Amino acid sequence: MTRTEKLLAELIALPSVNPAFVPPPPAASARQARSSHPFAGEKRVADFLASFAARAGLDVEFQKVAPGRSNVIARLLPPGKIRQTILLAPHLDTVGAGDSQFVPRRKNGRLYGRGACDTKGSVAAMLTALCELANAKSRPRETEIVFAGLVDEENAQIGSRALVRSSAFRRLGQPAATTDRLKAGLQTAVLAIVGEPTRLQVVTAHKGSLWLQLETRGRAAHGATPQLGQNAIYEMARIVAALETDYAARLRKRRHPLLGTATVNVGTISGGAQPNIVPDGCAITIDRRTLPGETEAGVRREIAALLRARKIIGKNFQQEARALPATGNQSEAAVGPAFFAEHRPDAACGRGFLLRRGGVVSRRHSERGVRTRRHRAGAHGGRVDFAGGAGAREKPAAEFYEIIALKPRV
Ligand SMILES: [Zn+2]
Repeated sequence: MTRTEKLLAELIALPSVNPAFVPPPPAASARQARSSHPFAGEKRVADFLASFAARAGLDVEFQKVAPGRSNVIARLLPPGKIRQTILLAPHLDTVGAGDSQFVPRRKNGRLYGRGACDTKGSVAAMLTALCELANAKSRPRETEIVFAGLVDEENAQIGSRALVRSSAFRRLGQPAATTDRLKAGLQTAVLAIVGEPTRLQVVTAHKGSLWLQLETRGRAAHGATPQLGQNAIYEMARIVAALETDYAARLRKRRHPLLGTATVNVGTISGGAQPNIVPDGCAITIDRRTLPGETEAGVRREIAALLRARKIIGKNFQQEARALPATGNQSEAAVGPAFFAEHRPDAACGRGFLLRRGGVVSRRHSERGVRTRRHRAGAHGGRVDFAGGAGAREKPAAEFYEIIALKPRV
């Protein structure tokens, strides 16, 4: 068993279920009670990784994000001046699971268990590689490598948001807003790898997700005299129709070479009290998947402009953006911007000294469209495979990591 496999097995055996996904306590009071569930929270894994990294001589610190929930940051510093920073940023939390899924099982070259590929496999591969590099004869001369094990990716991404605020992605030249230690220490990363399960494809773009709530307010009246009221459901019905037709058609024309088109979905609707009352309120929630460059404010403006142009909304119209909590086993972000590595589209591929050595397929955006390129493993004499994310989580009961992807390539 390789060191990486052993580490992955140990990580699977340490439950780190996102507190949002453990069964709710009987008295629905409590965040407190949820986080006290024996499987809940990233702390066990974060503490374990911190001592693992410290033993290998890495610089380790915690970034407190919420009570009992901290990102763990481990850094390999170059002997010389830091000229660039590479960020490895997998997450420590998992979705929920039954007890048996915290017992790692090997079968047919795969290691099974909750979190195996999403993303404890990447955690194990990245951190083992970093520790080996720390003890190797030659380490990168001017490149700092930062491993950031993040909390809460599966729910509200408070871990990555805290890391970004602490400046890992701060653009060069921008002044720091605060002076915490991380902020002072971390440089802008030229390359970041998150290690999500993508079957070893380098994915450089991601749609954003914006959940909006739209409300109409009318005037109540008796159902026998509807002409005396103003029906909020009728007004909402016109809005829904406009979203389904005009707005969706407009979005279909907006196309990104990697992500396809922007979309809109009306997901919920509620309104009215009973049949014989003219409803004075109606609300819908919509899920708008955004493309890089689209902003929350822009989306809100264009929806309002469309409804105004169609003379659907008047002064009673209210539109609110809310970070609606993800529910059940959904792992999608409630609200998150689209991402596209457009500033350095080549960093992960043509110039990518880590990934190129891993021999992974990378998809990238070029002026002429999407290009897929396969780098040959070993062509550049690479020493460690940093590529994470083999495996699949399509069947919740059978999350696995292909062990082949964990072997060092020499
Ligand atoms: Zn994930």
